[in-house]
Amino acid sequence: MMLDKIIYGAKIALPADDFGAAWANPIDGMAIGIKDNKIVKIAAQNEVLEIGAKEIVKLDGGIVAPGFIDTQVNGGGGVLFNDAPNEETILQILNAHKKFGTTAILPTLISDDLEKTTLAINAVKKAIQNGESGILGIHLEGPFISPLKKGIHDESKFKILDNESIEILSALEIAPTLITIAPERHDIKDIEKLANKPWTILAAGHTNATSEDMMKANEIGLCGLTHLYNAMSQISAREPGVVGYALEKRNLICGLIVDMVHVHPQNIRLAFDVLGACNLMLVTDAMNPVGTDDDCFMLYGKKIFVRDGSCFDDNGTLAGSALDMASAVRNSHFKVGIPLGQCLQMASETPARFLNLHDKIGSIRIGNNADLIHLDDELYFQNAI
Ligand SMILES: [Zn+2]
Repeated sequence: MMLDKIIYGAKIALPADDFGAAWANPIDGMAIGIKDNKIVKIAAQNEVLEIGAKEIVKLDGGIVAPGFIDTQVNGGGGVLFNDAPNEETILQILNAHKKFGTTAILPTLISDDLEKTTLAINAVKKAIQNGESGILGIHLEGPFISPLKKGIHDESKFKILDNESIEILSALEIAPTLITIAPERHDIKDIEKLANKPWTILAAGHTNATSEDMMKANEIGLCGLTHLYNAMSQISAREPGVVGYALEKRNLICGLIVDMVHVHPQNIRLAFDVLGACNLMLVTDAMNPVGTDDDCFMLYGKKIFVRDGSCFDDNGTLAGSALDMASAVRNSHFKVGIPLGQCLQMASETPARFLNLHDKIGSIRIGNNADLIHLDDELYFQNAI
């Protein structure tokens, strides 16, 4: 069998045998064989080269990793999904993030009117139906969240779940729909209805829930946490809060913003030591400036300033980040000290598992899509291969 492509000459980031086990660091001396855009062979260089291929890609060092997957992307390339929820915006955002190794995203809509939710879902549906493989689904971050932990969200948009909104939220129907909610605000039966819709994935975020509120929602299907530590109830002596619940139960997949501003490095390390790379995923929470030189933009009619890679309003409230995924990986490895293999895992396989797409993307395994990127030794993105 002649291969279409062979890639070698770089270290390769290979997954653990089992999904949900920690990756070792990238290794030398291996090659990847590709046919019909699928990974069909992973073996020692010589063994793969003997098979032969139409195209041989010999890299000069660096690392081959699976394309990064980002489940929380509000904007990039100078545009924000909320400002114009259409297919063009989605593609502009995706293309901005592709320059940093991200090959697939969930465009993320922050709290807004439900009419906008419908427009956003329709735009994502259209992009997917048009064959855009980099759009995996949608993330609806609000408006079913708590005014007590609103962050930069506009609380005048906040709502309580009911039958009508459950139908609106679950209307994508062809791809994952991640929905961030504050579980304590809603009737548990409504949360259950939403969790039971095909394709919906529920995460707690912008929430003041107690650990008991979390347990009830977790038992009926809530399985994720949106930006661990940020905009949620914290650990205290007599009330574990959302943070304590997640760290103790270890059964939620938690997004984490590693821009070194949103979360103290010691707390990042703590989360990693407790949860590991299988229950932590890197997210950027990126706003418009990613992939641009812009130093400010407008959000809900307010001017937002970019400082040290993060975004703030006049009062110093965080308004997302200007983080790209390659920077999040570099920060995790070089500044927090997390082993490289697991930094890459948190940017690829773990989000893929969260979205239940791990049998197609997120790791270099036989049968998966050949969705690969090349990073240099300093973990800067070189190109997609
Ligand atoms: Zn948020």
